[in-house]
Amino acid sequence: MKTPIANGQPIQRRGFMLVLSSPSGAGKTTISRRLLERDPNLTLSVSATTRPRRPGEVQGRDYLFVTPGEFEAMVREGQFLEHANVFGQRYGTPHAPVDAALAGGQDVLFDIDWQGTQQVKEKARDDLVSVFILPPSTSELERRLYARARDPEEVVRTRMARASDEMSHWPEYDYVIVNRDFDESVRQVEAIVQAERLRRERQVGLGAFVRWLREGR
Ligand code: 5GP
Repeated sequence: MKTPIANGQPIQRRGFMLVLSSPSGAGKTTISRRLLERDPNLTLSVSATTRPRRPGEVQGRDYLFVTPGEFEAMVREGQFLEHANVFGQRYGTPHAPVDAALAGGQDVLFDIDWQGTQQVKEKARDDLVSVFILPPSTSELERRLYARARDPEEVVRTRMARASDEMSHWPEYDYVIVNRDFDESVRQVEAIVQAERLRRERQVGLGAFVRWLREGR
């Protein structure tokens, strides 16, 4: 990160954690991918999970796929910023890559559920920006889950049943988006990111910058 030594230099900034949560099928993964493609200052937190790898998923890119024993060892060693049980499988966010990205002035995107979001909130409220994504309707949510066709039918049925529970957590989030139109939802998350980057307390280099302005050099 650069210090503001001349006009036009970026002002030193502290990164934040951008959490996106939603019921499965509300479009969160697609929105996340687009955000990451378009924003070089945003980096993805890759979670560890015990759930089986789906076709097309890549070890280390989509998840760190680990055995229950390996996951338990990571818990014991204190490697997780947060971890939770979701649909009978374990998921957790390793904190080391997140710490490194934030220290480097990057913002970190998390695709985690409400349980993980609560844990991050308890640990680092000031560095958390949370967004909940709702589907436009239940029938559309169901259509998207079936269209995905990557999970067995009983998994889809379980996820539909859980969607209603998950959606009840919307009041715990800073922002809520109804994903009617993909491009519009991406623009809305980008607007949130832009505004949150401009928050005074995140622009830690402002004091030095204003001193430089006032010196009139
Ligand atoms: P999926 O198995 O479909 O990739 O994810 C299932 C759910 O687990 C999603 O709601 C996703 O947000 C959540 N999830 C993924 N990684 C993590 C994590 O590291 N921590 C928590 N708490 N939830 C996660």
